[in-house]
Order: sequence, then structure tokens, then C-alpha cells
Amino acid sequence: MKYVLNFRNNHGTDQELLDDMKKVSDKIGTKKLTSKIYNEHGAYSYESIKRRFNSWNKALIKAGLEVTVSYDTSEKDLFENLEKVWIALGKQPGKRDLKKPLSNYSETSYITKFGSWKNALVKFVEFINSSSNLDQEELIEQETDITKVKNKVEHKHKTKRTPSERLKVQVLMRDGNICRLCGITVTGENIHFDHIKPWSKGGETTLENLQILCALHNLAKGDLEYES
Ligand SMILES: [Zn+2]
Repeated sequence: MKYVLNFRNNHGTDQELLDDMKKVSDKIGTKKLTSKIYNEHGAYSYESIKRRFNSWNKALIKAGLEVTVSYDTSEKDLFENLEKVWIALGKQPGKRDLKKPLSNYSETSYITKFGSWKNALVKFVEFINSSSNLDQEELIEQETDITKVKNKVEHKHKTKRTPSERLKVQVLMRDGNICRLCGITVTGENIHFDHIKPWSKGGETTLENLQILCALHNLAKGDLEYES
């Protein structure tokens, strides 16, 4: 008898890989597709899918399948997801908000990782408040006299214009999802993170210089800035 090596096909397109994941999920009748199940029934290998999409969970999300906590779900993934949900809602999410399409992870994922939903929130707040603007600020270069003069004209910034997700959550935790000018409650696309001292005038992207505005007042403020 001649032994035939079983080489898996690793050369599918992204879509073919995702379709195959869905196919296996349908065949087995589970939305929770684990690496073990996939390796037994899939046309490709778990490893090649993981490599292609950077992580198995990212592939699951792309394929529209349920993400469950596994060894490659880190605290960071869960926190980043929570940042996204918090920003979309504009406020502290409840357990019932942990559903697709808003949340990539279910309540069970957080409970598995942190013991309870309450504890997950406690740890998340610690994470948000730790090293406040570390990922926002960039290193300030040593300024020469010439660049100092130049910067007065061009407003050289120490921060990036767009706030990081963490900073957005910090602003929402401080102010709530309420327009500071009219008091209206804002969610999702209607939440505007406004620079109190305008970016164009050298205002930085810091917690102190950011406020929540509604769409209307964000537009109104923009117009005023052009006039001045
Ligand atoms: Zn407003």
C-alpha cells in the first residue's frame, strides 16, 4: 500500500476560507466553531486561517460566526470591544448590549474571562484610566530655536488630531453622552468629540481639551471657527 500524504489546501482566497468556515459551521450545526471542529471538517487548516486573518477570532467575525473566548482571546481584545460598544452607546453598556452587531463578544465571554460582568467593568475602568494618554501622545522632539519660531505659526501638535478609542471612552465617562451646549443625549454617529480650543488654533487632543457635542452644535462651532 502506498501512503499518500494528506496535504491540506492552503491557497484559497480569503472569501473561500470564510465560506468554508461557514460551510463547516452549517454542517455541524453550531455557530460556535472551534479550531478543533474546524480542523476535523474543514478544507483548510485552522493555522492557515489564523495566519491569513491574523487571528481565529477575526476570521470568525468576518465569517459572521460567533466568537467565543478561547486561548487567543486576550483581555486586550475584550477591552477593545468594550471601548467600541461604549463609544457607540455613548455610555456604560449593560449585559443586554453585548450582542451582534454592536458587540463581537457575548456576556459569557466576559464572565468566562473576568468571573462576572461587574468585575469585567471594574477591570475595564482600571484599564481606561491607566496610563491616561500614553497611546495618544507622541514623543516631542527637542526643539531648536528655529523650529520654535516655526511652530508658533504652524501649531505643531504634541498629539494626534483624532482621539484614541480609550480617550473617547474617558471623555464619555467624565461627561456622559450629553451635548455640553444643549444637553441633548447623543449616541453612535451623533457623538462628536470636539476640541474646546480648536485643533486649528493649536488645541491638543487631551481629556482636558475635549468635550461632547451633538451634530448640530459641532457644525455650528465649525462655522464660528471659520468666521473668526
Ligand atoms: Zn447640542
